[in-house]
Amino acid sequence: MFETKVLNLGRRFYRGRVGLTAILNGLKIGTGDEVITQAYTCVAVPEGIMAAGATPVFTDIELGGVNIDAAVLEQRITDATRAIIVQHTFGFPADMTTINRIAESHGIPVIEDCCHTLASRHAGQLVGTFGVGAFYSFEWGKPLACGVGGAAVINDEALAREVDAAMQSLTDAPSSKALRVAIQYLAFNLLYRPANYWRLKDLFGRLSKLKVAEGNYNPIDAAQPSEDFSMRMLTSVSNRLDQKLKSLDAITASATANAQSVARTLQDAGLQPVFANRGDTAVLVRLPVAVSDKPRFLALAREHGVEVAEWYSTPVHPLHGAEQSTVNYEPGSCPVAESACSSMVSLPVINIGGSYLKKLERLLRMQAS
Ligand SMILES: *Cc1c(COP(=O)(O)O)cnc(C)c1O
Repeated sequence: MFETKVLNLGRRFYRGRVGLTAILNGLKIGTGDEVITQAYTCVAVPEGIMAAGATPVFTDIELGGVNIDAAVLEQRITDATRAIIVQHTFGFPADMTTINRIAESHGIPVIEDCCHTLASRHAGQLVGTFGVGAFYSFEWGKPLACGVGGAAVINDEALAREVDAAMQSLTDAPSSKALRVAIQYLAFNLLYRPANYWRLKDLFGRLSKLKVAEGNYNPIDAAQPSEDFSMRMLTSVSNRLDQKLKSLDAITASATANAQSVARTLQDAGLQPVFANRGDTAVLVRLPVAVSDKPRFLALAREHGVEVAEWYSTPVHPLHGAEQSTVNYEPGSCPVAESACSSMVSLPVINIGGSYLKKLERLLRMQAS
């Protein structure tokens, strides 16, 4: 029904960001090259750019939205720009018509970040099919949570040959990583419910620090990319992905219905969630909404055990303060993204039911009082 079968998800990597680096390498993008990406993202994206040896250049998002502002994007293009990464944040399709027009006029390839959605459409066309390539992630918190893993979709024959050749030299992850991911996936499957979100998030944070869990964030070292960049997807993750892809249509239908229920609950409480552009279909991983007092909203959600995510809490989540310079983000350079970070929270749309909506309603009443 959703025709996601047009996507060939056969090129699989240890993580999503590894797929991005493979695309950049395949395009021969490296030292001295600039790659534009949006602020209001996570550090995985600049990490992938830097693992290829290139420099991330951040561009701002649309006012009231979560995706690239095409007008600002054009100002960020220089003679050194070699690629533009377009993120479909939370699953909202970016304005690919305008962005592709700008990119084409400068002769710059576009890479789509589809980590938040496999099924959204812009003007009827599936995301992941607009650029030379796209990358996907299958870790916890993504539409198909399989452990730790990523894939690249390639829409250009010459690039596909380059990427396929380079993939020959990927290695298997060490068994210690396989074990950590296996335990993590088991725990996630056993324990995750929206009501447990805060407890699990804290636990995962502690275990990642102790290196017991496979965390989301590697230390950024431009000179020495993480070993993850040389590794293929774990076999266990790959098998799970094959299984889950079979139910993608059902997952999509359920996320779509849930997103409508959550949006209605927010609107009933006088809040305005982000909407897809006219003519687009958004299959979301979470529904973002601006709240008047984000710290208080998050504190209430934690206290009452209601799943509410804070990401993105900083323009290059979770980097704060001076850490941001490690990925070339200059504080103040993307004011709309920074303002979204201080006002936007996001609500789950996968694996939720009526009891979540009731808790959310209660939370919304509390934050209004
Ligand atoms: C999760 C995510 C990534 C990276 O995925 P990994 O599999 O962790 O490398 C990249 N971009 C966005 C927007 C993401 O949410």
